Amino acid sequence: PSQEYELTRRRIESNVNELWHYLRAKTNSSTMQFVNEMRHHLLYDLETIEKRDNRWRKAELKSLSDLVQNKMKELQNPAKESCGSAKKLICQLNKGCGFGCQIHHLVYCMIVAMATKRTLIMNAHNWRYAHSKGKSSDAKGWDSVFLPLSETCLDESGSSRVSWSSSPDLDSYQVIDLPIIDSMRKRPNYLPLSIPQELSSRLIQLHGSPIVWFIGQIVSYLMRPSPEMIDYINQQKDRFKFRTPIVGVHVRRTDKIAERLVYLATDDSSLWTKEVKEFEDKGYVFIGDSQISQTASIGRRYSIDSLRNIILDIWLLSESDFLVCTFSSQVCRLAYELMQNRTDLKTDKSNAFYSLDDIYYFGGQSDHNQIAVLSHKPNNKQEIDLRIGDIIGTAGNHWNGFSKGLNRDTKQSGLYPGFKTIEKIETANFKLFEPN
Ligand code: GDP
Repeated sequence: PSQEYELTRRRIESNVNELWHYLRAKTNSSTMQFVNEMRHHLLYDLETIEKRDNRWRKAELKSLSDLVQNKMKELQNPAKESCGSAKKLICQLNKGCGFGCQIHHLVYCMIVAMATKRTLIMNAHNWRYAHSKGKSSDAKGWDSVFLPLSETCLDESGSSRVSWSSSPDLDSYQVIDLPIIDSMRKRPNYLPLSIPQELSSRLIQLHGSPIVWFIGQIVSYLMRPSPEMIDYINQQKDRFKFRTPIVGVHVRRTDKIAERLVYLATDDSSLWTKEVKEFEDKGYVFIGDSQISQTASIGRRYSIDSLRNIILDIWLLSESDFLVCTFSSQVCRLAYELMQNRTDLKTDKSNAFYSLDDIYYFGGQSDHNQIAVLSHKPNNKQEIDLRIGDIIGTAGNHWNGFSKGLNRDTKQSGLYPGFKTIEKIETANFKLFEPN
């Protein structure tokens, strides 16, 4: 299929949903039942059209995924004898935030490593989720749950070392210490939401959300489970009788929604005794752990069980066919990113989510822009003008047919119909993908 065919097909799919959001916000519930049935029928037919090229799509996705995974592996595994002289980038795992936030911090470090072609060295010392010192079962730290980032090069030493800056001679140093993304001055153009230019045309053709796919590839590499962790995940899957089709629901404290078979992940176990009962009475089946010590932290440290459980939750959410959650949560976004690498049933899972709040974002990202493809005249004071070609900095989707943003060309800020814009995909040069 041509790129235009793929883009058009996906635009129909997302605009069917935009139309549904719009009507749902305007219409009474009996009409909506009818509309919803119609929507499902439309989406079902679209899926049949999509299936025609699934073989090609699967092969192409696998080929892209292999390419990115192999490149990361190559970058992370210089020959043992050259580790002493390899160019390195140092990343501190222990950012003062939750698990999802720390993994996303590592993702950002890996992006810089890939763009500058430097081996990423993670400093996981004193990790709050698993201390590498002490006698307990978490004594292995990062390695108790994940594979090390390298098999040949974990040593951060080098002949010259400097903190990240925009200085032109930066690249002449062997070792560079990275700050957190928010303190990066003179932000390089390869930070999210940019995708590697070298992959862009294939990715844009293949996937509804290239950046999410790309981040998902990095998360998949970073979070390669250790053999013990794989055993644990499989054990728990057996215990829950985890099976598909299933909807993954992540509840970060205050929201709720459900469909038939549901994997429930939450940091609030009281949900199992209250909300879940209510939905079970309506015929929904919930699986998941109702008494895990998710938030059982000892002081500011976490037990190994709580670390395993948060990883398990993210893992099984990512194996769901559809994800319901709040994109404001890093846990939910991690699951959504990983989900893009699980292409068993549907090759493109960029639409397999329902976020109760934000649209997808990467913490510390550069501007998220869209391009107007249809013009729009405001119907009230809250709406803004669109002219074809205008660049819109988008701030969010109100999930009622309208998004909110700033028209960078007219400087107007307000609401506009989402279906009148498309994503403006930014690309940047990544040294790792340059032909040798
Ligand atoms: P965010 O605060 O939701 O954006 O995500 P973070 O990962 O940065 O911090 C939330 C922390 O709460 C996680 O790291 C977990 O320790 C805990 N948590 C949140 N949701 C869940 C969940 O569904 N299951 C488990 N086991 N823990 C959770």
